[in-house]
Amino acid sequence: MTTLAELGEREIIEQFRRLLPADSSVIVGPGDDCAIVRPATDNNFEWALTSDAVIENTHFTAETDAVGIGHKLAARCLSDLAAAGAEPMWALINISAPPSMDADRLKAVYRATADTAAKYGLSIVGGDTSSSNALALHMFAVGRLPRGSAMLRSGASPNDVVYVTGELGGSLAGRHLVFVPRVREGIWLRSQAWTSSAIDVSDGLECDLRNLIDVNRNGVRIELGSIPVSASARSCENGRSATEHALCDGEDYELLFTVPEEKADKFEKAWRSAFEVKVSRIGTVTGQAGSIDYVDTDGSIVNIRNKGYEHFRS
Ligand SMILES: [Mg+2]
Repeated sequence: MTTLAELGEREIIEQFRRLLPADSSVIVGPGDDCAIVRPATDNNFEWALTSDAVIENTHFTAETDAVGIGHKLAARCLSDLAAAGAEPMWALINISAPPSMDADRLKAVYRATADTAAKYGLSIVGGDTSSSNALALHMFAVGRLPRGSAMLRSGASPNDVVYVTGELGGSLAGRHLVFVPRVREGIWLRSQAWTSSAIDVSDGLECDLRNLIDVNRNGVRIELGSIPVSASARSCENGRSATEHALCDGEDYELLFTVPEEKADKFEKAWRSAFEVKVSRIGTVTGQAGSIDYVDTDGSIVNIRNKGYEHFRS
């Protein structure tokens, strides 16, 4: 027997993927932030599909604030839609809960999910409930995109500039329950066609950079001093530096994307007049396949081991 822990999340997903038949209505299948589908009869739109789970003892504990749990369920899906630049449309929620659970707590979770969804125009239109040993919530969400416009993880080329929104490294200090999904920013990036590739930072910057820049073709050079490290990352150093938290902790849910070099200055100006949240230029895509270089402020290359989050691995 091979266990899930031995295979790891990436290999399991790869094995699942081989079981799926091709379908001409699928523009982008598994492996991106959203699947992108287009029914043959639809000439105007594509549809971005995503799902996420929030599970007791994995993402939260029995003591976690109900509002944070509910917000996180909706905001995780919204963040994936944002990464594709999709306009949030509809969602389903599946709830599994122990019969002994306090009904008021579950209602508070659900209300928080509904509130966050409504704030971004995501309509909750149904779902399913069942009993289980621990509380588990699953959301499946649909977003809309003009045909052919989805932002994807693929597409970065050498010399593209790498940007990240907001600040990184605050998730362990509690930000993973209150983060703001960058929905408006994602739609703006997509509608103005600034990006060559985009992803939301869910596994940690170090990990998601590899997912973004297509390490089989490209490399990346990141200026450590340019990474926007949050104040809360500095406050929870616990044996690891604030920069390490910013690089390796998951669940920041900021947008990480590339912009072609010739558009970069114009992009930064346009961003500043459109949004209050900051965007940081953190590095450059290179032509050296697979090489991820972190450059310290003194010019030396720092070796950062990949410590991003992977499910099933202990
Ligand atoms: Mg994502």
